[in-house]
Amino acid sequence: MSNIAVLAGDGIGPEVMIEAKKVLNTIAKKFKIDINTQDYDVGGAAIDLHGNALPEETMKGCQQADAILFGSVGGPKWANLPPTQQPERCALLGLRGHFDLFCNMRPATLQPALSSLSTLRNDISEKGFDVLVIRELTGDIYFGEPKGRKGEGDEETGFDSMFYSRREVKRIAHLAFQAAQKRNNKVTSVDKANVLATSQLWRQVVEEVAVEYPEVSFEHLYVDNAAMQLVRDPNQFDVMLCPNLFGDILSDICAMITGSMGLLPSASLNSDGFGMYEPAGGSAPDIAGKGIANPIAQILSAALMLRYSLNQDEAAQSIEDAVTSALDNGVLTADLLPSNQRQNAKTTSEVGDYICQIIENKC
Ligand code: ATP
Ligand code: MG
Repeated sequence: MSNIAVLAGDGIGPEVMIEAKKVLNTIAKKFKIDINTQDYDVGGAAIDLHGNALPEETMKGCQQADAILFGSVGGPKWANLPPTQQPERCALLGLRGHFDLFCNMRPATLQPALSSLSTLRNDISEKGFDVLVIRELTGDIYFGEPKGRKGEGDEETGFDSMFYSRREVKRIAHLAFQAAQKRNNKVTSVDKANVLATSQLWRQVVEEVAVEYPEVSFEHLYVDNAAMQLVRDPNQFDVMLCPNLFGDILSDICAMITGSMGLLPSASLNSDGFGMYEPAGGSAPDIAGKGIANPIAQILSAALMLRYSLNQDEAAQSIEDAVTSALDNGVLTADLLPSNQRQNAKTTSEVGDYICQIIENKC
């Protein structure tokens, strides 16, 4: 029996999580996998209910689980809290830090059915797009000391410290090179070494690690250049190895190259293989509660969970194939349609139902 802690959170989190759970139930029946899901409060919703974005019961549930399926947290309602009480910082960074989930993998693949959506480059519809962003997730400025003075009487200054250790860079760099060995043998390491001390360390350590993987071709890029190159010629990349902040930003660009923020899943793993799985996008408060959010990123996150934490590769592949079929058959939420065709958009639950149907009907 595999125990999954389900943390739907805020914004579109609960809506897309319903669909991911539907798909999980369907796949569990189909493949006879014993999965037990247990819901816990997190984020702004947990602040409202318990006064804390990451209640003890939620943390305990996660500690006892085999994996965490996470939705998204935060929204305008909690935006004015001091940095240390923000849902993102408390809940999301709290979980990443507690479980040492330093390796965030964000595979971005352009689905053939959506190639016309990717308007960045005309030739992408022919060449496709398949990049793995490996984002370091437990260091960098996100885990520095915030000295925003909101609520502390000083509205004139803000301060964040940025930190990386050799050990932190080394372990993520190894994983990036190992991932590249299983793909197309190319790593692009992203930094801002012409300005930042953390980036100079990053560059030096990645270079040392690269020596151990002579068959993998390797380059450094400054983050501004990397952003430009992603828009100019996205196909030049295979694995992009990024510090926390730059990986956050560049993976949003990758998401839009594939068509929508609502498509990209992610896996956050520690060195014991324990994982938390969540969409690369956030709580999207602008579309929350309308039943129009794209559930695919959350559903594909459940597939990654089956693959990495439950060792159920075939079940994971079956979900991924069903998602591809849904897209091929034009079962699309509004974010995947041009504005003059949005009247044909499917709702969040229609997309989830369709994916379940495909899984059920496949022999
Ligand atoms: P975070 O800091 O948590 O990454 P963010 O500020 O990057 O959050 P998102 O919540 O990722 O913002 O949303 C950016 C925009 O992308 C949203 O306003 C929404 O329009 C769109 N978006 C994100 N997720 C989805 C989805 N699942 N379906 C449709 N649109 C989405
Ligand atoms: Mg974002």
